[in-house]
Amino acid sequence: MAIISYNTIRMANLSVVGSHNVNGVSKLHSDIIKKSIFKDFYDYTPEKFTNVTNGIAHRRWLNQSNPELCELLDDCIGAGYAKDAAKLAEFKKFENDETVLKRLDEIKRIKKQQFAEYAFKKQGVKIDPETLFDVQAKRLHEYKRQLLNVLHIITDYIALKENPDLPMQPKTYIFAAKAAAGYYMAKKIIKLICFLAEDIRKDPKINAKLNVVYMEDYNVTMSEMLMPASELSEQISLAGKEASGTGNMKFMINGALTVGTLDGANVEMAELAGEENIFIFGLKADEVSQIWRNGYSSSAYYNKDSMLRKVLETLIVGFNGESFADIANYLLTGSPVADPYMCMADYDSYVLTQNRISDLYANDKLVWNQKSLRNIAAAGYFAADRAIKEYADNIWHLKSLK
Ligand SMILES: *Cc1c(COP(=O)(O)O)cnc(C)c1O
Repeated sequence: MAIISYNTIRMANLSVVGSHNVNGVSKLHSDIIKKSIFKDFYDYTPEKFTNVTNGIAHRRWLNQSNPELCELLDDCIGAGYAKDAAKLAEFKKFENDETVLKRLDEIKRIKKQQFAEYAFKKQGVKIDPETLFDVQAKRLHEYKRQLLNVLHIITDYIALKENPDLPMQPKTYIFAAKAAAGYYMAKKIIKLICFLAEDIRKDPKINAKLNVVYMEDYNVTMSEMLMPASELSEQISLAGKEASGTGNMKFMINGALTVGTLDGANVEMAELAGEENIFIFGLKADEVSQIWRNGYSSSAYYNKDSMLRKVLETLIVGFNGESFADIANYLLTGSPVADPYMCMADYDSYVLTQNRISDLYANDKLVWNQKSLRNIAAAGYFAADRAIKEYADNIWHLKSLK
């Protein structure tokens, strides 16, 4: 609990001591800090610890960035949701209205087309708006596991190389991320994504089903174009690592379905939208802690999964003339610990879930759009208006003006 120890200032401890409230920014993370990192502080001053789940500026991320979707919402439930996001819940009444579901589909198509044009103008990259847009947009960080996403893409790439005629839902994997200039591993992963993308692009037959795009210079302006165009939102951090996430909420309010771990606010998204309307996979936070206590061995997963072995062999051979053996080593033999964010442990579960997602999209677009509608209807809780009101009521003890 020391603020100063061994000549270093412990910033987290200083923050807790200096603050009258401590917020974990999602239910899961608020519980984790009480049980683990700040346990002693929690025992000492339990009244400081609270939870206010994060929210987003929905007038930016819905009204401003997706006027087409707002027109549909206005027609169905009126414009009141702009001031009171809880009113989005009324949209759920339309879950079986085929005209509304069809309009939802058309709006997504328009936003995908707009994004494809933007991406081409900005960096000359070609995107087919008929493909499923599978998007991971967030800072590049090992715990966020862009690498797990890549391991799955390589899995599909291997399958298509072995049989280019394999029936597969055509997909465009869009990455948008930036990283600190000195973050060595992040830059390695960016290089892997870009070289993999280039490699796939060289084979037109495979490229028709599998396209990978790395958007340069990710920022809010780009994000406002990307969120409305996304169909699948990648929220695949190692459980226990993402405090809340807010990108997850921006995708949700624009009708993307989420593939995610039970981490941060994903947990509350699943509760509010219904577990059948979100694709949850992988280890849970308590299972991750348990495995660390017993000793994690990524090579056990390598030894028992022949597909995973092929993926790592392919990394070593490399893409576009460049070997990524260092990343294979990071996953298998890295020190002080191999695969510190357990990509290998969650690989199988992630691939199986991705296959379910592609099947649903390819075979039952109506049910897909139903799930999309239910996500939009459940997203009102994640408005910043609600979060700020909780801060005002429970932390700042402010009264609103009449
Ligand atoms: C919302 C947002 C983030 C945060 O995204 P997470 O997925 O929650 O990490 C980061 N960068 C930009 C530009 C954003 O708009």
